Amino acid sequence: MRKFNRIPIDSPDCLKKTDEHSGETKQKICTEKWKKRVAKFREGQIKNSPDFNWYGLDRELRPLLVGISQSHCAFCDCVFSHDDTEHCPIEHFYPKKKEPDKAFDWDNLFPICTICNTSKGAKFDTKLLKPDAPDYEFGDYFVFNYKTGEMEPNPSATPDQQKRAAKTIEIYNLKRKGLCRDRIEELKFYEGNIGTEANIDSYGHRDYIERGIPNCAQR
Ligand SMILES: [Zn+2]
Repeated sequence: MRKFNRIPIDSPDCLKKTDEHSGETKQKICTEKWKKRVAKFREGQIKNSPDFNWYGLDRELRPLLVGISQSHCAFCDCVFSHDDTEHCPIEHFYPKKKEPDKAFDWDNLFPICTICNTSKGAKFDTKLLKPDAPDYEFGDYFVFNYKTGEMEPNPSATPDQQKRAAKTIEIYNLKRKGLCRDRIEELKFYEGNIGTEANIDSYGHRDYIERGIPNCAQR
């Protein structure tokens, strides 16, 4: 799970844009609409759990989020295909139905692949690590096993840090077999291309590559 350096740090213009009639921001208007729908469901006024509506904002938010991660999933760091870059899910770190007031908060949103998104679902735990947290650094919490491709809690981290790492691995299923295999394959692929012009950002699993290759940049 690579560090996610959010730019802009505060809400982007598409969320801050104000409505000419009410003077409220788009973020506030959309949040209020969503909160009302969730409240109605909780109070039993509507039968089915409401489907989330981005009110068109996803088309503006997704390119910004995908730009920050250089077209990678913010959790497993797989590289998105062209299609994923345009259509990937947007993760609500704090689940949108449990915490509807955060559904349009810029710092609650991450680009995510469909597999991580399905694993996470509506789950949440206070121990979960947030990739854009100022004090989050991969190496403080995680290590890789280069025999198996698995990501594990860093054994030299504090007990609390290890619990947080384990919970994050569990909820986003970051130890899944296909992902471990992809990390190993991507490192081999990178090694085969050393000396070529290819940038690390064109590969998936960048933390795995950087830590697996001595003297690789950003190690
Ligand atoms: Zn993923």
